[in-house]
Amino acid sequence: MNNRQLFLSHLAQTTDFPLMIEIEKAEGVYMYGPEGKRYLDLISGIGVSNVGHRHPKVLTAIQEQLDKYLHLMVYGEYVQSPQTKLAKALTDTLPEHLDNVYLVNSGSEAVEGALKLAKRYTNRREIISCINAYHGSSHGSLSVGGNEIFKRAYRPLLPGIKNVVYGSFHQLLEITTDTAAVIIETIQGEAGIKVACSNYFQALRKRCNETGTLLILDEIQAGFGRTGKFWAFEHFDIVPDILVCAKGMGGGMPIGAFVANREVMGVFKNNPLLGHITTFGGHPVSAAASLATIEVIQKENLLDQVEGKAELFKKLLKHPKIKGVRNKGLMMAVEFESFDVLKPIIDLAIDKGVITDWFLFCDDAMRIAPPLIITEEQIHEACAVILTAIDEVK
Ligand code: PMP
Repeated sequence: MNNRQLFLSHLAQTTDFPLMIEIEKAEGVYMYGPEGKRYLDLISGIGVSNVGHRHPKVLTAIQEQLDKYLHLMVYGEYVQSPQTKLAKALTDTLPEHLDNVYLVNSGSEAVEGALKLAKRYTNRREIISCINAYHGSSHGSLSVGGNEIFKRAYRPLLPGIKNVVYGSFHQLLEITTDTAAVIIETIQGEAGIKVACSNYFQALRKRCNETGTLLILDEIQAGFGRTGKFWAFEHFDIVPDILVCAKGMGGGMPIGAFVANREVMGVFKNNPLLGHITTFGGHPVSAAASLATIEVIQKENLLDQVEGKAELFKKLLKHPKIKGVRNKGLMMAVEFESFDVLKPIIDLAIDKGVITDWFLFCDDAMRIAPPLIITEEQIHEACAVILTAIDEVK
């Protein structure tokens, strides 16, 4: 059996439409299939490879850590310098009160930890989240997700969850003194890049303050430079009580975190109640990669380039079949008439060597979230291929 046959026979499938692209090597913005076919990656493994595939500084950090140690002990028991250095570097990117980092393995796990922390700290049980939100696939993170079709088969899920409309001022009144936390994606990703306005975020922050509710911002997709600021909340002049991140954090290695202040996070260590425990969270190799990723984003001035690159995409992606582009920085959704129009365009663009896809809850928009290191020339190359694919599809 060849690899594609093995993929279909022995790997659990997650969709009826797997992209099924076979890759043997990846570097920068490019991925290479068998026989050397080259693909320009416009989705960064869904917002992960923000600094590009196999960034040399990330590889060096990984190599250096490989020479020292791999897993030593469950998270939070031994002093491991990749974790301590990462926690310092991460908190340095954040407002002063966000000074305490809990390292985990993934986005969903970070969301789980954040929800537990909010319940424990406030001693309240209700959580408010948004319609069309995606916060992960584990039971807790799915419970706060906002898409009923995805949730239906797994009920009963967590009780005490209320869904409100992302961006609705009126529904902020749902937040009361019974609400432990509001969890919200600063930019809704899987809904197809929806961006609420600054006034909304400020009103949300104010309502949380008034009711003693913790504001959890999920920046798993929008963080780590994707929108042109290190954190997307910086666009809106607000600060969260708990921040959740993952994806781009590891520069291609699995790692996530939830960040809060020392006082809030402190409730997890009050014995005998179990706080949150993870064996592999903040794995030293991933933590070393993450520290290097932060340094690359800062030293290569990637943030300053995001807006210009996004504008270039928007300027070039003009076509009668394109209904519009929604974006915050390089988190972009290119709107088409329907999935039936979009799907053959995506397939043909992949044949021609440019990889995009659609969104979990928005299948009529093309996802564009390239590595932030993409050059103007590569943006021209990518857009030319997409426009040709649109023209050539019958
Ligand atoms: N939150 C958001 C906003 C996400 O985009 C994702 C992943 N698409 C998650 C949470 C879950 O992250 P993970 O897949 O690492 O569990």
